[in-house]
Amino acid sequence: MNEFVNDFDFENRIVETSYTDEDRDNEITLRPDSFDEYIGQEKAKEVLKIYIDAVKMRGDTLDHVLLYGPPGLGKTTLSGIIAQELGVNFRVTSGPAIEKQGDLAALLTNLGEGDVLFIDEIHRLNRNIEEILYPAMEDFSLDIIIGKGPAARSIRLPLQHFTLIGATTRAGQLTTPLRDRFGVILRLELYTPEELASIVKRSAGILGVPIDDDGALEIASRSRGTPRIANRFLKRVRDYAQVRGNGEITLEVAQAALGMLEVDELGLDNTDRRMLETMIKYYDGKPVGLETLAATIGEEAITIEDVYEPYLMQIGFISRTPRGRVVTRLAYEHLGIPYTTAPAPQSTEGSQIKIDE
Ligand code: ADP
Repeated sequence: MNEFVNDFDFENRIVETSYTDEDRDNEITLRPDSFDEYIGQEKAKEVLKIYIDAVKMRGDTLDHVLLYGPPGLGKTTLSGIIAQELGVNFRVTSGPAIEKQGDLAALLTNLGEGDVLFIDEIHRLNRNIEEILYPAMEDFSLDIIIGKGPAARSIRLPLQHFTLIGATTRAGQLTTPLRDRFGVILRLELYTPEELASIVKRSAGILGVPIDDDGALEIASRSRGTPRIANRFLKRVRDYAQVRGNGEITLEVAQAALGMLEVDELGLDNTDRRMLETMIKYYDGKPVGLETLAATIGEEAITIEDVYEPYLMQIGFISRTPRGRVVTRLAYEHLGIPYTTAPAPQSTEGSQIKIDE
């Protein structure tokens, strides 16, 4: 089993969805700043446009918004667009960056009327810091305690009416009191290859890279439904096109460049393939519990669930059953492993097994 564990390279995945240093440049130049440029997510956009128009007509403040979905789908981007459309300031922070109650108090007291405060990874806010948010979100006030011991007293400071936009990978990770204070809760979906192809073409236009439709679709199909990955691939393929070709991205160039990165035609890299192979080899294709799988491949359960699995489930390679994760026939076929149906479960322990989520 160790041979497998050691081969996992979770640190340096090209299909990594979380933010890397390289992404920083991409995100400044390639980030759309209006609804028109923001491709896909039609449902979320439609809802938000209505609320924004209504708020503008009333001269009101937008209700607090919670955006959830896997990393790299455009939660930060969409929040920036909301602020832009509202014509207010956009302040960005993240759950882990707020270390003390005072940090959050300082952020809140500096907000102007109607401003948007964006808190990424809001589920990672410390609980005692989170408590400051409750009165801030509900009554636009800040409760602070002055002094210590018997002399301590609480004073209430008024805040400007602001909009909090929280982003998280899963709404279920938030505490109930926090989740209940969001008036608008929207889920962002993985993008279709066609939507990603439009994103790739838009980005190529900004970067001045010639690309044809097939080349764009090829990059898109291997990007796991995620714009952040699509933009990263575009840059790698551009480099390849410059060095090995005439600078233009065509189907052949995209295939060769991404093949070199060991990302297959469905966007799976070695990590995905080995995870699936482990499930097949060690568990015979029978259901595997999330925690067991995490321990076997040496990765956090939450990372598997939030980062790797959404795409593998979207393409139908993994399905969730009450007994755990199962590799599907499609995945066997993709990996070139003969499909053997797992024997029917023998025991009666089904009633004790808890269903994830
Ligand atoms: P998240 O906050 O969900 O992790 P980001 O908002 O940082 O994701 O998006 C990652 C990158 O992907 C952005 O810099 C942007 O360039 C690109 N992107 C995301 N969503 C879209 C979209 N709908 N249209 C075009 N580009 C997008």
